[in-house]
Amino acid sequence: MAELHDFTLASARDALKAREISALELTEAHLEAIEKLDDRLNSFITRTPELAREQARRADEALARGEGGKLCGIPLGIKDLFATKGTRTTAASRILSNFIPPYESTVTANLQKDGGVFLGKLNLDEFAMGSTNLTSAFGGVENPWKYSDSDARLVPGGSSGGSAAAVAAGLVLGATGTDTGGSIRQPAAFCGIAGIKPTYGRCSRFGTVAFASSLDQAGPMARTLQDCAIMLESMAGFDPKDATSVDVPVPDYEAALGRGVKGMRVGIPREYRLAGLDPEIDALWEQGIAWLKEAGVEIVDVSLPHTRYGLPTYYIVALAEASSNLARYDGVRFGERQMRDTLDGMYEATRAAGFGDEVKRRILLGTYVLSSGYYDAYYLRAQKVRTLLRQDFQKAFEKVDVLLTPTAPSGAFAWDEKPTDPIQVYLNDVFTVPASLAGVPALSVPAGLNSRGVPLGLQLIGRDFEEETLLAAGHVLEQAANFTHRPTLHAGGAA
Ligand code: GLN
Repeated sequence: MAELHDFTLASARDALKAREISALELTEAHLEAIEKLDDRLNSFITRTPELAREQARRADEALARGEGGKLCGIPLGIKDLFATKGTRTTAASRILSNFIPPYESTVTANLQKDGGVFLGKLNLDEFAMGSTNLTSAFGGVENPWKYSDSDARLVPGGSSGGSAAAVAAGLVLGATGTDTGGSIRQPAAFCGIAGIKPTYGRCSRFGTVAFASSLDQAGPMARTLQDCAIMLESMAGFDPKDATSVDVPVPDYEAALGRGVKGMRVGIPREYRLAGLDPEIDALWEQGIAWLKEAGVEIVDVSLPHTRYGLPTYYIVALAEASSNLARYDGVRFGERQMRDTLDGMYEATRAAGFGDEVKRRILLGTYVLSSGYYDAYYLRAQKVRTLLRQDFQKAFEKVDVLLTPTAPSGAFAWDEKPTDPIQVYLNDVFTVPASLAGVPALSVPAGLNSRGVPLGLQLIGRDFEEETLLAAGHVLEQAANFTHRPTLHAGGAA
């Protein structure tokens, strides 16, 4: 039998069903790993060992009766953006540092219904705004990976950095993430794990703290695509509580993994070949193309002509929506109140004390692009360009079934290498935001290590609600890459 920390989510599920291991011992092993590693990694904001043990006991009872859902007894981590009834939900912001929701998000309710065991709430960039997980009010997250030639502390990517780090380090078997412009895919790539941003509307947004409502989408993060497929099947589905959730049946995602890719057409968007792209990223992309070719796909050169407007469009639309969504943190409806003599004084003090710098910057920019006189020039124009970006994808998908690109323009970098210029940080999202703006599904798989020994990911982008095609193609990449490396800081490693 595999060591407890060697299990993938899928193999743990099988071992639990076969009663070779118990949910409680699996949970205890993961809680121990958290104890051992997470004071350093800081991937959890809130640990919930008692809840986990209780859920694990119930899972064991269900398993003993030959019952239990598809995640019965599986230790999971929840990004601290999903409201969890009775468990503090902070969005990694000071303003929500004492918020205990009286309701459960639909995604986490689904996972619980299927028997998932919640080990705690995972760290993220404040309100999911960022690509480094360094903007959290609860401190940054350390990537469990290390450069081969230095001991520098690396970023896990963001905003789902806690989710990615916890999965990579073996603290949980899977984690929820959210992706507004890349927050599942980029940290997955930085930490050497898999992650899926499903089609917009696939998973309910009910009970997920909103960043940019027309872009936010929940998705799974885990070591393998099979693990992600199992989680997604549980997380996805129509929800009458979210008007943008779409009523299409949830397929058997796990079964799609083995479909193969013969006859599939894979597009390589020429505009993604950025001038000055890191040669190692380019080489990995070529490797991915070669792997898919060997598996029998036809590679097609395609054009997404509006790609270069992706980033500016995203940083207008997302920030406009964020400025509106974050208006509710006023110390009355939501938010840690700072008492002052006047109402305006109270609002100002509450928001000044509660929000970090990046969040304030985005509220200011978002308010600006929505203000009278600038609305037409920025927001309205960005909405039009967004339509053009979506049409780019629609046209490309007349010719091809999926698109292959790198996930991020670099591997993980050191905490102190984070650029001080926010625009430089925003460039991390260059390959991920177009799919977000278009609403189409995309995933990242770990595909290799760079010359400094940290993981790099490849991204596949697909048609609306064709996650299964992505999984089939992704599985071929995953098998060819055979990424079995583990990070330096890992539950199975030396203390
Ligand atoms: N890095 C992007 C941003 O800072 C995306 C974040 C996300 O997807 N939540 O907005």
